Amino acid sequence: MPARPALAAAPDDDVGRAPFRPSANLAGLQPSATIAVAERAAALRAAGRDVIDLGAGQPDFDTPAFIRQAAAEAVERGATRYTATAGILPLRQAIAADATALAGGRHAFDAEQVVVSNGSKQSLFNAAFTLFGTGDEVLVPTPGWTSYQDIVRLARATPVDVPGDPAHGFKVDPDRLRAAAGPRTRGLVLNSPCNPTGAVYAPDELRAVLDLAVERGWWVLSDEIYRRITYERPAASALTVAGDASRLVVVNGIAKAYAMTGWRIGWAVAPAPLAAAMTAFQSHATYNAAAVSQHAALAALTRTAEADAAVAEMVAAFRARRDAALALLAERPDVPVLRPDGAFYLFLNVAGWAPDAPDAGTRFATRLLDEHDVAVVPGAAFGTPTWIRLSYAAPLPRVVEGVRRVLTLAAAGAA
Ligand code: PLP
Repeated sequence: MPARPALAAAPDDDVGRAPFRPSANLAGLQPSATIAVAERAAALRAAGRDVIDLGAGQPDFDTPAFIRQAAAEAVERGATRYTATAGILPLRQAIAADATALAGGRHAFDAEQVVVSNGSKQSLFNAAFTLFGTGDEVLVPTPGWTSYQDIVRLARATPVDVPGDPAHGFKVDPDRLRAAAGPRTRGLVLNSPCNPTGAVYAPDELRAVLDLAVERGWWVLSDEIYRRITYERPAASALTVAGDASRLVVVNGIAKAYAMTGWRIGWAVAPAPLAAAMTAFQSHATYNAAAVSQHAALAALTRTAEADAAVAEMVAAFRARRDAALALLAERPDVPVLRPDGAFYLFLNVAGWAPDAPDAGTRFATRLLDEHDVAVVPGAAFGTPTWIRLSYAAPLPRVVEGVRRVLTLAAAGAA
């Protein structure tokens, strides 16, 4: 992945003598590019500009009322104290039951194998930090979510890009993984539905990748945070297709499907010894996730009729926006787009806008914000610098207007 400016890190033995420089723990760390875009858009809006924010990776809906109500009631009942580090038992039981159902009974999970954290981002961090270390390499399909690389680096391991196949939604397959792997490969990150492409692995595609991981003894971190947001067919969970789950960590959360980004609840389902180690690590890092948020998550996972209706309504809205945007883009072959089957992103190739610029996506995104008041995320954040990512987690008219402005800038050329 091309480098963005990294924080300058001091060698371990230098800390304490020099003026502040981050420790070697942060070597190479890059602040999150997606969060940077969101903050810049918010700052421009605060300055009075009517910015169309298609950068955000969060649903624009309110958390469903029954979940908010359940949280309020939990607080009134006294859910205001520390909980077990790994989370309240009924929530872990609900997550374990869901995992067992996804596995179709081939693998059974219990609460001991579940660790609830402050968002799936922390779950991924817990897993990477617990599993990998200096000298280890972890395969990361590219383009991929901006934080994977930095999470692996924070564990002092080395992320290794695995370029996906542009003709297949940038998905990776066993051949691509074999080509990128080496003797130090210890793990693999998977993300289906994928941020930023919206690609969804078919069950046999996922199974082929998981089989290779088992054959090679790699740990798989399967980030399934967008699993409930699909448009063509349900997305397979690694739990459903894995023949062997003994080195599988499935990460999920409530942020995206239930419009609960701010509640900060995610979880990992993992083999019991790993879950115990992650719990020990988390006990010193953050302790439990917020008690009230855990009760909100419990409502989201156990009041299934209400939750399913809420998710279906949001997915229908995402679909309408996706289809409206795709209809506009279909008229413009100069801006190729991947047709997303899941998540809520459009991934556009703007290489043709500035053919000589290896960083066309960054230039395009900068001009789009400065001159057309539309925030998008440059593809460099995901390892593909001639692309841009548009989020359609915004009201339909804003998405349509945002795409129109993208096409206006694209037509004008980079000159
Ligand atoms: N994984 C992916 C692929 C994401 O896009 C995001 C958020 O943007 C996360 C994980 C983090 O989600 P959470 O809010 O549960 O930490």
